[in-house]
Amino acid sequence: MPATWLQLAVKAPSSASDAIANFLIERGSPGVVLKKGQVQAFFPSPMCGASFKRDIRRFLFSIRELYSDSGEPELHWTVLKDKNWSSSWRRFFRPQKIGRGLIVAPSWCAVPKIPGRKVIVIEPGMAFGTGTHATTRSCLELLERVTRTLPQGNFAALDVGTGSGILAIALARLGATQVLALDIDPVALDAARANVRRNRAQGIIRLSGSALSQIHGSFRIVVANLTAETIVRLTKSLNRKVSPGGYLILSGILQPKAAEVISQFAPSRFRLASQVTQKDWTTLLLKKKG
Ligand code: SAH
Repeated sequence: MPATWLQLAVKAPSSASDAIANFLIERGSPGVVLKKGQVQAFFPSPMCGASFKRDIRRFLFSIRELYSDSGEPELHWTVLKDKNWSSSWRRFFRPQKIGRGLIVAPSWCAVPKIPGRKVIVIEPGMAFGTGTHATTRSCLELLERVTRTLPQGNFAALDVGTGSGILAIALARLGATQVLALDIDPVALDAARANVRRNRAQGIIRLSGSALSQIHGSFRIVVANLTAETIVRLTKSLNRKVSPGGYLILSGILQPKAAEVISQFAPSRFRLASQVTQKDWTTLLLKKKG
């Protein structure tokens, strides 16, 4: 599935627009546009499954009394074109601190210099991964935590579904000597390639459109921010790619599906070291038995 973005337009009388805007930001839209009688929000298409859309409809139904005379809540989903993307979306992506030692900044802002924080500069293009989404953020926080325990400059990592390249670049910043970053979407790979160059990490990161099952070797850290369904489908390959004693970080999992994902990996081959849920999205840190 291409990693494009969708625009959601919701009919919203002024009495309901704040509640709707807050809800959509909480669900992962990096920002909203408030128009007369309408709220617009933006979501990466891989995140917009049937249950996600149902969740939004359920919320609108729960506040339908705010619509009073202005009819029923109406939703329109449209695929974002490049042009709309840059005009409506960019202004919501601002530099942000992540964890104890990272800062993610959009390419069109002055890069803030904060002592002790490593900067990752991202131009998302049409790819997913600005760090504003709860899943990306949780992955970055866990990567930071895990890399602190590893000998710097002496580990290899794998990023499955790299999108904008953000997690691969973070790994390079956090001391990986080699990072292999995969994506099945050529649009994402193009965006990632530009970001890798922008962050001068081309000596460390290799991008590839190969399937995970085709990748040889094993890695100290494997990170995969996909969906619960894709992760479960890839269980066998993901397991094989983690070296003994290494770490597997899994995200993009809606909370009700976390138990199913955990049961695929722990307790047989992995120990569940951490489970973080932010805004309904669960991220798992699994440590492979030695
Ligand atoms: N890693 C980024 C982007 C996550 S979005 C972040 O954390 O923000 C998920 C990405 O995975 C998309 O770019 C999508 O194209 C890619 N993807 C989906 N299924 C995949 C698979 N089976 N193998 C590799 N990439 C996949």
